[in-house]
Amino acid sequence: MTTAEVDVLAGAEAVLRKICAEFPIAGGDGSESDRIAAVEESGADEAQVLAIARQVQSRLFDAGLAWPDGPAEYGGRELDEDDANRLESLIDSFDLPTRHNLFVGLHIVAPAILEYGTPEQRQRYLPALFRGDQVGCQLFSEPGAGSDLAGVSTKAVREGDDWVITGQKVWTSHGHVADLGEALVRTDPTAPKHSGMTMFMVDMHAPGVTVRPLRQITGGAAFNEVFLDEVRVPDSARIGAPGEGWRVALTSLSSERGSMGGAGGPLSPTVLNRLAGLIEQQDGGGDPFLRVRVAQTVGAVLAMRAAMDRADDEWLDGIAEVSGSVQKMLMTRALDEVSTLAADLLGHRAFVDTGVFNTHAWSEFILGVPGLHLAGGTDEIQRGLIANRGLRLPR
Ligand SMILES: Cc1cc2nc3c(=O)[nH]c(=O)nc-3n(C[C@H](O)[C@H](O)[C@H](O)COP(=O)(O)OP(=O)(O)OC[C@H]3O[C@@H](n4cnc5c(N)ncnc54)[C@H](O)[C@@H]3O)c2cc1C
Repeated sequence: MTTAEVDVLAGAEAVLRKICAEFPIAGGDGSESDRIAAVEESGADEAQVLAIARQVQSRLFDAGLAWPDGPAEYGGRELDEDDANRLESLIDSFDLPTRHNLFVGLHIVAPAILEYGTPEQRQRYLPALFRGDQVGCQLFSEPGAGSDLAGVSTKAVREGDDWVITGQKVWTSHGHVADLGEALVRTDPTAPKHSGMTMFMVDMHAPGVTVRPLRQITGGAAFNEVFLDEVRVPDSARIGAPGEGWRVALTSLSSERGSMGGAGGPLSPTVLNRLAGLIEQQDGGGDPFLRVRVAQTVGAVLAMRAAMDRADDEWLDGIAEVSGSVQKMLMTRALDEVSTLAADLLGHRAFVDTGVFNTHAWSEFILGVPGLHLAGGTDEIQRGLIANRGLRLPR
């Protein structure tokens, strides 16, 4: 590393320490909270969790740490790939308060705006997302379009300088707190289905947008149904050309898959430390059978991290298109290992709240993991992509 690079990391470390001191991960009574979730932060303290996430994000932004490899004109640090990875790893190693509710805006919406947006659109949306001023959501899935996303039927009709959008979206993570929705809609019903769609940025506070929460098995309600009833969107909020929506969506989906296990992802230092605490309680991990399970779990986590770190390496040449799918599959495998090990170690204590630290708190995590086999494209869809587009196997 050059002296300049060492300076970047040393400066970042000081900022991160300061943020951790300013926002300690604590329960309402000042004690350490044992809350851990695989999918979302929701519940009574949701507003507070979001407020803290936004403040932490703005501190990171002001210190130039919010977007290590992003263009400087939109608030990025413009580090090269190696330095950006080093900085990301450093940030991940700090136990910052969760910024999971900003994930969609930063890792799904922003990449599409960066690739397909005009300079004005990039300036309008990107700094606001990376500073945490705006929360983004992804309006892709519909009751009749999930794995077959190109089947979306929400439509937009051009009226002068505006488009009028009508339809229903579903499973919209963080839609109830979002300011901005990336909406894939049909603009040409006569065109072949993949070329009749267009992408818009929808103001989630606009007239005609109704958001209804969906209660999940975890107890939370962090995703939603979104009804769009003649919502007017200016043409200046169209991302990409009319009919180019599918390509814009692919950028978002590929980034989503590749980022799910990264910063703010479910396998945070907190979760892994808590798991280590559970193993420690169980005979210090001395039991040979337990040691095998722990080794399997550690192996799965390390494989996921290695794939993340090397996502842009040459070894992916030829299968780069599906590297996000590979990373997502490794992430869900690691999550399964962590979740089943925790469930086995805890037994009924995971599901009966005895008030003991680091026991019942796992239930939200354990119940949330299955959903991640679906989110961002199901396991079957990822396997299909890896087989057909990566390994070029016949359909
Ligand atoms: C936690 C979570 C968060 C989510 N957040 C969002 C969000 O913010 N925004 C958003 O737009 N969507 C979101 N989704 C929706 C998600 O993208 C869809 O659930 C997913 O794409 C699957 O679509 P579906 O639920 O309609 O299932 P379906 O597409 O109906 O699939 C049903 C079953 O059939 C299988 N299947 C379907 N097609 C094939 C095929 N070709 N080959 C093999 N098997 C197949 C699937 O694997 C699955 O097992 C979220 C989902 C979850 C669980």
